[in-house]
Amino acid sequence: AETAATHPARAVVDLDAIAANVGVLRAAAPGAATMVVVKADAYGHGLLPVARAALAGGAAWLGVAQLTEALELRAGLDRTPSAGRPPILSWIFPPGAPLGRALEAGIDLSASAPWAVHEIAAAARTAGRTARVHLEVDTGMGRGGARPEAFAELVAAALAARAEGTVDVVGIWSHLACADEPSNPATARQVEVFTAALAQAERAGLRPQLRHLAASAGTLFHPATHFDLVRPGIAVYGLSPAPEVAGSAALGLRPAMTLEARLTVVKAAPAGTPLSYGHTAVTTADTHLGVVPLGYGDGIPRAASGVGPLAVAGRRYHVAGRVCMDQVVVDLGPESAGVAVGDTAVLFGDGGDGGPTADDWARAVGTINYEIVTRLGCRVPRMHV
Ligand code: PLP
Repeated sequence: AETAATHPARAVVDLDAIAANVGVLRAAAPGAATMVVVKADAYGHGLLPVARAALAGGAAWLGVAQLTEALELRAGLDRTPSAGRPPILSWIFPPGAPLGRALEAGIDLSASAPWAVHEIAAAARTAGRTARVHLEVDTGMGRGGARPEAFAELVAAALAARAEGTVDVVGIWSHLACADEPSNPATARQVEVFTAALAQAERAGLRPQLRHLAASAGTLFHPATHFDLVRPGIAVYGLSPAPEVAGSAALGLRPAMTLEARLTVVKAAPAGTPLSYGHTAVTTADTHLGVVPLGYGDGIPRAASGVGPLAVAGRRYHVAGRVCMDQVVVDLGPESAGVAVGDTAVLFGDGGDGGPTADDWARAVGTINYEIVTRLGCRVPRMHV
């Protein structure tokens, strides 16, 4: 209640939807364990509440990019004894990172190159522990991971560390570049390169229990990419990795986040009234204007000027004129449709009753649903229901 009173806007996150979406993903990859990806504050949805809901929904693993995310996640889960102590994988750290802290927190680490194995092994030696490591191979993403021709060196570094007892290689993994395009042949090529790398590691004496390749699109569209573990992110939040191929509803997913704000101004304005910075919009009739207290300071893309959709009292509108730092203007029409100050504007939600969705926002501003939810700023309180 305090949040509703003190903050004009909020992102309501439906944790039952998160748990249900995990169930959909588990059913899509029945032979594989599920690692729910909660990096970037759970794609803007709130790290710890989402992690707990994902575990309740049957996730066996949690995945994050950065070490600090992994440490925050572990500390938070340790404060919730019922969450247990799930394995956590972190796949990004720079040279010289405090890896000892990760090992003490029981975080699995990824290594892309021999230097990373050496640093992990050194930290394990100092800590008197055995580090759990996942070797990343670049099967065609052209981003992280050892290139296939350099994979032997990575395997050799891991074998040497294993021999001295500092490293246990628990996984070999890679990431797909084009799985959101179901007919793109790049995915099958990546599976081939991955399979060859696994065989190469096995010949060298490494046969880790976890082989993993698929994120949401691989999980939903490419069974051949499932292997032992899948790593969905966006679909857990109820958003499709490929909305033009199959939307949330078609995939059985429920968008978890609703972004809403209460109108702080409703007022009459005559025809010909210019609106917002630069006067890029002008009212065409005598009308009512509403002001919604969300702007680019909250992560609303400025590219939504003139096009971002929203709903007030079940009617669809769009942002009129430029998005400001803290506010946007809406032309409510001549009758203002009975809208009053304090009423709620929904920018995006689960699409029920024809309301706007994160997919609508992505289409309107020329980006992807991932960016719409992840960029939401820390000024907007997340309310978990
Ligand atoms: N695995 C890795 C390595 C990632 O970087 C990501 C996110 O980009 C994911 C899994 C989850 O991807 P998605 O949100 O498309 O399911």
